[in-house]
Amino acid sequence: MFRTLIIIAAVAFVFLIIKNRLSRKHGQQQYASSKQSDDMARCLQCETYIPKKEAIISGTGAFCCKQHQREWENSHTRRD
Ligand SMILES: [Zn+2]
Repeated sequence: MFRTLIIIAAVAFVFLIIKNRLSRKHGQQQYASSKQSDDMARCLQCETYIPKKEAIISGTGAFCCKQHQREWENSHTRRD
């Protein structure tokens, strides 16, 4: 009888740990998605939002790719 109680307590303990971990993971995901807008940059050329770590940041702004950086700089720095 005493053994059964220990087993039930152990199962309940493991269940609580798993439940706690799952809820904590869910909270982290919510935090990440709410923080996402802070880590986004907008390409000046095509106005697409890209993660800042993937964006090309130049002195003029952020771009999604080298080509758009070149296109934007070509259209905004004309030398006649
Ligand atoms: Zn672009």
